[in-house]
Parts: sequence; structure tokens; C-alpha cells
Amino acid sequence: MLGLMQDRPLLISQLIEFAARHHPTTEIVSRRIEGDIHRYTYLDAARRARQVANALDRLPLPVGERVATLAWNGYRHFEMYYGVSGTGRVLHTVNPRLAVEQVAWILNDAEDRILCFDATFLQVVKAIADKCPTVRKWILMCDVDQLPPDSGIEGLVSYESWIEGESDAYEWPEFDERTAAALCYTSGTTGNPKGVLYSHRSTLLHCYGAGLPDFISMSARDVVLPVVPMFHVNAWSLPYLAPMVGAKMVFPGAALDGKSIYELLESEGVTVSAGVPTVWLALLNHVQSVGGRFSSMYRTLIGGSACPPAMIAKFADYGVTVLHAWGMTEMSPLGTVCNLKRKHLEQSPEHQRAIMAKQGRAAFGVDMKIVDTEGKELPWDGVNAGDLLVRGPWIIAKYFKGAGGDPLADGWFPTGDVATIDADGYMQITDRSKDVIKSGGEWISSIDIENIAMAHPVVAMAACIAVRHPKWDERPLLVVMKKPGEQASREEILSFFNGRVAKWQVPDDVVFVDTIPLGATGKVQKIKLREQFKDYKLPA
Ligand code: ADP
Repeated sequence: MLGLMQDRPLLISQLIEFAARHHPTTEIVSRRIEGDIHRYTYLDAARRARQVANALDRLPLPVGERVATLAWNGYRHFEMYYGVSGTGRVLHTVNPRLAVEQVAWILNDAEDRILCFDATFLQVVKAIADKCPTVRKWILMCDVDQLPPDSGIEGLVSYESWIEGESDAYEWPEFDERTAAALCYTSGTTGNPKGVLYSHRSTLLHCYGAGLPDFISMSARDVVLPVVPMFHVNAWSLPYLAPMVGAKMVFPGAALDGKSIYELLESEGVTVSAGVPTVWLALLNHVQSVGGRFSSMYRTLIGGSACPPAMIAKFADYGVTVLHAWGMTEMSPLGTVCNLKRKHLEQSPEHQRAIMAKQGRAAFGVDMKIVDTEGKELPWDGVNAGDLLVRGPWIIAKYFKGAGGDPLADGWFPTGDVATIDADGYMQITDRSKDVIKSGGEWISSIDIENIAMAHPVVAMAACIAVRHPKWDERPLLVVMKKPGEQASREEILSFFNGRVAKWQVPDDVVFVDTIPLGATGKVQKIKLREQFKDYKLPA
């Protein structure tokens, strides 16, 4: 027997309409690329999202087609989140920090039809414009009078002239909640970047989970500032969660330095923010240097890399609770957040700190398990470490276009992280089995680096590993075995990377070795290399 409740689909358009209706005067504040502050409300945002929807219909652009953005966190990007997905098209947020060739590759793989971009990325777009044949419309996210007269990009229009004159009334379509809503590529695995395709259902369910008190716990009394970019897993879903609960939003634009972020936190009364440890390091340094304090922010979501216990302690000194979170692009992204249980409240501060340094407990909706090398499940004793697998309604089933084949093992997604889980369900990452480097929250593919190095005429074999770094968490070190009798300097090898990867992806250093350890199947034994170079001091 089926239940007799309404079968209304969960759709992203409902979020913005809910916010417009129930929180019409709640503000969205953005630091624009131009440097000034822009303010409007959820009601204004909803009107302009509807104008975007009308503009897309006018093109026309069939539903299901991809609309890409190359943009910072700001109000126009926010409008695209709704105007595009709400109509049944797919919003594809592209990471502008990638090298030009990588950006073009991703746009082509996604077969994007429209690209909306911030003025910061004009040069990138100029460089890719004739390499991306599927893109038919280029939109610069700027005011009408800011459009450069001779951009060299055919048919370039300003965002404002594109939506100007469109009606701000729109009947959002109703469709299957499993319809694709947003696309985000990740290189956090092996090979080429792969697209993760979120649905309306997965996005809304993730929001319900993420908003829970032991997760992000967001409400209409909050002011949220996502430092995590809107091109990185939908800014950890905050542009969806804030309208769902009616929280005020503050977008930092392109100014992500400690001073600029601190100014916004203080001037806008931000209560909660979110970002990777690298960003907070800069913020804490700034606050310390000016003898400041946090007058409104009392919690901050930190993830993307392990949050050092010293950072948690520093924030605690300022009266800010760190919500240490773990997740993945493939998980929308939230998997776990660390929060104490009632029984921990009576325990010593040291005990509490030890718990808070863990990656935390799963929200309802995320199933976790750890397994040994044979795939046998390991006990939740906080000691046994194994490969971490997850499943749930906001976790990936397949990559876009089936890239990489079936990513699941018996219905579970292998995260590539190695972890322990204790009897209370607290998960702690102890290692990573996937072969990638995470620098300041962004991936560097060790395979890409190795492939480039191997193309150098002097290199016989190369392996790239992560080495700990105080600011960036990890940085790449290239280990090179030269061909017999051949010579090359560190500088020669490093200059070989120029123009082949983004500057920040170039290894920090090269070490020359006589042999690189290989396993039985001829694979480089990265674990051995990581052990060998674990105390390696990278050049400053
Ligand atoms: P995000 O950066 O939003 O977490 P990515 O897909 O770029 O998403 O990266 C996911 C990976 O980052 C995880 O599989 C894990 O290796 C690493 N990671 C994320 N959060 C943490 C954390 N809190 N501690 C340790 N590693 C983390």
C-alpha cells in the first residue's frame, strides 16, 4: 500500500521562491569585482533569477543544456544558480584557477552552450574562445557600461543588458526531482577531471541534512559568508541552504585576503563562515596583527583539508567554534561535521579537544563504513583504519557521461580516504589512498605532473608526492630518476612545467634519486616515497 501524501518534487526553484516570500527583506551583500559593496534582498534576487530564466527561454536553450560560469562569489552568480537550474538547465560552475587548457577541456567535455564570466577572467576567456566550439553565447557579468568595446570575443554581451527588459515574473516549471541541476568537475581522482552531476533532489536533501543542528545548524538569525568558492562544490551548498532557512548572505567576491574577509565579517555582522584552512590562516594572522577580535562570528566551518588542532584552539581563544567538516565534490559535499555529544560536555577540555580534531559524525543520510584491503568491514573502535566508503541520496552514483566507468563498489562509493571510526561514530581521516595533492583546498594531479616530467628528455622515471606545508597544507615534490649519463638541473626540470600546468601546480622542488621504489606489479610505491620524504623541507 502506498502512502497518501502529496508527491511534490523537490526543486531548486522552490528555495528562492520560499526566500522571496518568507524573507523578502533579508539581505544579500556582495563585494563586487569593482571593489564596491552591492546590497539587495532575497526578493530582488528572485526577481532577477526569473529574468535570467526568461532570457534563457528567449534564446532559446533547450532544457538539460549546460550553462557555465567562471565567476567569484557574488550576487549575479547567485542569480545564475537559480535562473539556470530552476528552468531545468544545468549550471556548470568552472574552476577558474585551472590552467587555460584545463578550463577549455572541461568546457568542451561538458558541451557548455553559454559561458558567463567575471571581468577578472576576460583574458582566460579570450584565450579559450575559439577552442570551445559548443559555446554559443559569451556573457560578461558586468554592468552595461562596463563592457569593453573591443574584447575580441564575438557577440560578447553584458549580463545586465542580457537580462534587461526581461520580465521578472516567471512560472518555474515542475519536473522530476531527479533532473540534473548542477555540474562540477573534480580532479580529486585519477586521470582527466570528471563531472559530478547533482540533481534537484540530491541538492535539496543535502540542504535538509546540512542545516541540522549538529551539522551547520543554520537559521534565519544567521549571517553567512562563504569563502569557499561557488565554483567549488556549490560553495558547500551554502547558496542553497541560506535561502532555505532565510539567513542573510555575504559574498566576498575576489577579495579573499585576511584583511578584506575580516572587514566583511565585522561590517556585516557575519555569524558563520566557511572555507579551507589556508584561508583561515591568513585571516587569523591578520586579526592577530591588528589586535582585532570577532564581534559577531561565533562559528566557522572548516574543511577541504584537515584542520590543524592549533587552528581550532586559536579560534577558541577568540570565542569561535570550529566546525571541522569532511566531504567531497562527489558528496555534495558534506559527509561529516564534528560536534560534541551531550556526554562529552562533562569531560575535560583536553578530551573535548581531541574529539573536535576529528572529522566528525555523519549526518543522517550519509552511511559510512571502513574496510580492509580485502574489502572486509572493520570495527568502529577508533583504532582500526581502513578505506572509507559512503552511500546516500546526495552521493554520486556515476560521473558525467560515465567517465571512469562505474565508481561504486557494491553500491558504496570509495572515497579514497583512509579513516578510523570510533564507537560514537566519530570518523578520523588518517591517510589518503588516492594519488593526488591538495594545495590550499585545490587539487593537483600527481599523474599530470608525472606525465609532464616523463616527457622531459632527461627523465627516466618521475613520481610526484605531497609534502606537508605550513600554509598550503600540501605541496607537490617531484622525485626524478635521470636516464643514465644524462644531466639536468632542478631549474631545467621545473621550467619544463611553464605553460603546461597552472603556476600554482608546478612542483615546489625536485629531488634526484638513483632508484624509485616499485611494487610487484611495477607500480611506484608512493607510500614508501612519502615515508622517505616525510620530513623534506621545501624551499621557502
Ligand atoms: P572539498 O574540498 O570540498 O572537501 P574535494 O572533492 O575537492 O571537496 O576534496 C575531497 C577530499 O578532500 C577528501 O576526499 C579528502 O581527501 C580531503 N578532505 C576534505 N575535507 C577534509 C578534512 N576535514 N580532513 C582531511 N581531509 C579532507
